[in-house]
Amino acid sequence: MPELASYAAHPAATRGRRHAEPAPQGRNDFQRDRDRIIHSTAFRRLEYKTQVFVNHEGDLFRTRLTHSLEVAQIARGIARNLALHEDLVEAIALAHDLGHTPFGHAGQDALNQCMKKFGGFEHNLQSLRVVDFLEQRYAEFDGLNLTYETREGILKHCSLQNARELGEVGERFLRKQQPSLEAQVTNLADEIAYNNHDVDDGLRSGLISLQQLTEVEIFARHLAQVQQKYPELKGRRLVHETVRRMINFLVVDLCQQSSENIAKVKPHSIEDIRNSPALIGFSEAVRQQQHELKRFLRSELYQHYRVNRMSAKAERIVRELFAVFIDDTGLMPDEFQQRAQTDKSRAVADYIAGMTDRYAIREYRRLFAIEEQPL
Ligand code: MG
Repeated sequence: MPELASYAAHPAATRGRRHAEPAPQGRNDFQRDRDRIIHSTAFRRLEYKTQVFVNHEGDLFRTRLTHSLEVAQIARGIARNLALHEDLVEAIALAHDLGHTPFGHAGQDALNQCMKKFGGFEHNLQSLRVVDFLEQRYAEFDGLNLTYETREGILKHCSLQNARELGEVGERFLRKQQPSLEAQVTNLADEIAYNNHDVDDGLRSGLISLQQLTEVEIFARHLAQVQQKYPELKGRRLVHETVRRMINFLVVDLCQQSSENIAKVKPHSIEDIRNSPALIGFSEAVRQQQHELKRFLRSELYQHYRVNRMSAKAERIVRELFAVFIDDTGLMPDEFQQRAQTDKSRAVADYIAGMTDRYAIREYRRLFAIEEQPL
């Protein structure tokens, strides 16, 4: 690994784990976090969870697993450029979506709605819950017992009310401080990844067209570059050549602008970073172009009537599962029944949030279908 900046996160100077453990051998603490995340149950389930398209609609669309890998790849590239800790951004990237419900945004909104009276449901907070409590793998503690720095990065947003209950990792929201640059990088790598792969998946699904995308400046400009260089190019290769240029353009802009921001503030330590404004960011012009692309995706893809139909179905499944389990916790597996004795609604939310798309669909059939179903 190239030399780290003094304001990067250093594993040797970690704020530590919730339960003290001997230092790892042959790897640093952030590598250990990453390894624990990859071996977790929640990580394996990402393969069968989706963002926009429901899992059974096709094998070519991104799942949360491939999304998380793309985020890790983009984030590592940026981190290396800025002399930040690559292992930490990788750990945060691989864990950042662990708390997502089945069926992407639709599932999360529905579960949040169901949990409104009980403190709500936030997927970032749920990701932290997964690594702090819900994974059961170790003899001496619940969760994965990750370092403070990885947990800080996972908790991207959080309501003030929840922040108050979280202790150390929630404090920055109350004090209006920033997380490490590694956390900031991963957050924007997430944005670069999903905007671009949603363009790709959107085109592949046929829900949006190249023609429509030429109204979006950032896409149109890179498409024109490709067409100028390869006038005969068509189909998937034309799309890929355009998307890869967009990703590269965004990464280069982010690295340049962030380097300038850092140079201006002259931080010396990670504590300086936490007390400065956010330093990782796009230039203003590019931020606006990204924003335009996001607006386009929201109106043309995420609210496409065919996506709305999937979302409506997904919401119904989540709502009805929630209602039936709240009404009778005896219908949940033993582990969740037990947890329901101390906090019923949170146990139901944990059970539903942990489901993959296909598990939720099967569970719905098992509970509601009139025809005979294997139990
Ligand atoms: Mg994400």
